[in-house]
Amino acid sequence: MALETDPARLAGEHFDVVIVGTGFGSAFFLHRLLRENGGRILVLEWGQRHDHQWQMENEANSALPHQDTYRSQNPKPWNYTIGFGGGTNCWFAQTPRFHPSDFRLKSLYGVGADWPISYDDLEPYYGQAESIMSVSGDPDMAAVMPRSTPFPQPAHHPTTPDRAMKAARPSEHFIMPTARARVAANGRGACCASLRCQLCPADAKFTINNGMTDIFDDPRVTLVLGAQVRTLEADASSVSSAVFDLDGKDVAVTGDLFVLGANAIQSPAILKRSAMDGPLVGRGLHESYGTYVEAMLDGMDNFDGSTITTGLNFGLYDGAFRSDYGAALVYFENRWTHGLRAERGRHRQILPMMIVTEELVNDDDRVEIDEDGVARVHYGGPSSYTKKGQSEALAKLPKLLEPLPVEDIQFRRERPTESHLQGTLRMGADPASSVIDADMIHHRYRNLVVVGSSTFTTCSCANPSLTVAALSMRAADRLASRSRA
Ligand SMILES: Cc1cc2nc3c(=O)[nH]c(=O)nc-3n(C[C@H](O)[C@H](O)[C@H](O)COP(=O)(O)OP(=O)(O)OC[C@H]3O[C@@H](n4cnc5c(N)ncnc54)[C@H](O)[C@@H]3O)c2cc1C
Ligand code: SF4
Repeated sequence: MALETDPARLAGEHFDVVIVGTGFGSAFFLHRLLRENGGRILVLEWGQRHDHQWQMENEANSALPHQDTYRSQNPKPWNYTIGFGGGTNCWFAQTPRFHPSDFRLKSLYGVGADWPISYDDLEPYYGQAESIMSVSGDPDMAAVMPRSTPFPQPAHHPTTPDRAMKAARPSEHFIMPTARARVAANGRGACCASLRCQLCPADAKFTINNGMTDIFDDPRVTLVLGAQVRTLEADASSVSSAVFDLDGKDVAVTGDLFVLGANAIQSPAILKRSAMDGPLVGRGLHESYGTYVEAMLDGMDNFDGSTITTGLNFGLYDGAFRSDYGAALVYFENRWTHGLRAERGRHRQILPMMIVTEELVNDDDRVEIDEDGVARVHYGGPSSYTKKGQSEALAKLPKLLEPLPVEDIQFRRERPTESHLQGTLRMGADPASSVIDADMIHHRYRNLVVVGSSTFTTCSCANPSLTVAALSMRAADRLASRSRA
């Protein structure tokens, strides 16, 4: 890995491409970029590199607590990792694709907005990202999310409740797609369902550390760790340089192309510190909304699957109701988050579930910066749209679970966060209602590409990172075909 740590050697240097961050958005962009000439590439990462052993020994994903990197007057946590590999370190590796309707919310249901690209535009890149991460999945999912390539790994072993659901509702209930390896591959162990994926002892889930360091070893790439990008400098239509803090010194480098892949809080903070903040920069911070529910089962044991979450149910996902309340995904769990059943001989006759509902984007939920330049989150709480999605899902759950011997369904609690910060530099066709275009290029600064979950137009209830990766690969591909033309 070509590491550069000397501020004096970097100051004033010129690069063909300057990339901010090493998480999902930045790394998958770099991966695709390196298939082209790419030129001289500088990657600036705020955190340090903490390998798997360091993370296990220190029971942490990073030495830099993310809570110290933003402020908020609302107690809701916004979770992320500042460090080499970004969110690939802390994620749980759930990898559903977005539903085709997610990209057309406005035209189908009259709420939210349409993305400037469709599911079909993204489909080949979903396949490429799944291949890089060795995603395991259920081929039957193609009925809902059409696919041109098979899942790279076979599906995980479902639990007994999953098998019953899948037999009764084959077009709705699927085995969870995940980058937690079903079979050992590419240096990763097989997932053994030890159930603490934020710090996976088996190193079974995909991370940049275990699956993508080769791109940072490329001789064209210089990686600078401990480099907090403070500002970009730009004229009316293009960015000329990036200024970052390295060892307490401000360093400026110039470049031809800039790729902004800090997360959905830090990326808008960088643009705001740079006075590159149009009316929508930082606006629309959002994530889906989740709850925990459990079903007591009569005579059916759970927890015989091969990974933490084994089932994904789309029975409450799509339909005309989305003009009124949010879609819901029901995750079937192979982990006993709330403990086992107490009755003798019935410990495993319980089905924990997560219900996650889609949210509408609200521009009042936003990222600003304080006078000292630190990001500040303003957040007003989940909307009535997503809350109604939850209450409708709860009301419909008995019917959805009819294939199972359910005795009782108990609401456990709200989830404080889905750890999916999104939407502060949104994609769209119209500069009046978005920050970047369909190719993820800033509407105004035409040599600035924005990657990562900050770019999401709307809030699907599916987990975001596979879509982040696919969008990045598509953006790099579009850029390459544009420069070849
Ligand atoms: C506990 C947890 C579990 C999760 N589980 C899942 C899951 O199962 N499935 C799923 O799809 N998603 C999951 N996520 C969400 C996932 O991590 C994010 O969706 C994803 O990381 C977003 O990608 P990104 O590129 O926008 O940001 P990141 O991956 O966070 O990358 C941002 C990068 O920028 C760097 N950076 C930030 N600011 C600066 C700066 N000023 N200068 C230089 N570098 C900077 C960061 O250090 C980081 O490397 C989970 C998140 C958490 C916290
Ligand atoms: S279930 Fe266990 S082995 Fe599998 S990815 Fe999570 S922590 Fe790792």
